[in-house]
Amino acid sequence: MLLQEAMEAARRAPARGRVADYIPALAQADPTAFGMAIATVDGAVFGAGDWEHPFSIQSVSKLFTLALALALADGGDELWRGVGREPSGNPFNSLVQLESENGIPRNPFINAGALVVTDRLLKLTGDAVGAVRDFLRAESGNPAVAVDDSVASSEAQHGHRNAAMAHFMASYGNLRNPVDSVLAHYYAHCAIEASCRDLALAGLFLARHGTRADGSRLLSRSEAKRINAVLLTCGTYDAAGEFAYRVGLPGKSGVGGGVLAVLPGRGTVCVWGPGLDAAGNSVLGVAALDALTTATGWSVF
Ligand code: GLU
Repeated sequence: MLLQEAMEAARRAPARGRVADYIPALAQADPTAFGMAIATVDGAVFGAGDWEHPFSIQSVSKLFTLALALALADGGDELWRGVGREPSGNPFNSLVQLESENGIPRNPFINAGALVVTDRLLKLTGDAVGAVRDFLRAESGNPAVAVDDSVASSEAQHGHRNAAMAHFMASYGNLRNPVDSVLAHYYAHCAIEASCRDLALAGLFLARHGTRADGSRLLSRSEAKRINAVLLTCGTYDAAGEFAYRVGLPGKSGVGGGVLAVLPGRGTVCVWGPGLDAAGNSVLGVAALDALTTATGWSVF
């Protein structure tokens, strides 16, 4: 009921945004698709609309790569030497800061930062995309979560900017693996297909202060707090201020139109609508989260 009302409120807004087409395979997404799921810390999940329809998670994957890299690293210090924790104020695929800041990206959620995190996860596991996919399968209980190879290869053929960033960072010694391997794993984890249901369940470890679905600990309480903090300040491109203002929750968006938001201690909400605003965030998704948190008061503030 609550979800349906939030979705109806979002549909009343005049704008719909544009489906991302800079990765040609993403341009085939249905611009009218719209789904929303809410999961609670005890593992219950509810949804409305296209909430069980898989979509390309794109940058939503970046929160999972970060969590897994931090979980497997011996403390986060090495990782945080290679990537910062400040909003960039620039588009997600911008190259401009990298040169003046010596190949250290501003944060783990812009593309350059996510490439560094993917590189570290690859070093730690030997299979970064497999680690993310298996984590999503385990937490969602859905063995069908998988990489869409056509999306990954479509991005590989058009990913000149990501390749440029990766080479640039390698020239500063900020990658531990060959550039081509890092890019392949990055494109593949971005090309994972999952639904709002799957992502809401998979994100619950952040609402549970670091604890996984099976009760084991992925992250310490403090690490989970830190990831939520970076999500709030950097998770929604250079519109993170607007997202915090409207929604009041940590969240991560992707150019496939998904947004995963965390209500610490309570649960998660995932929304999918492929039409994006100029910053790259789902127009319907942000509007629905805005309506939901405004109606319920569910926010970290
Ligand atoms: N794979 C996409 C890229 O690197 C992810 C972008 C996004 O969702 O923000 O451009």
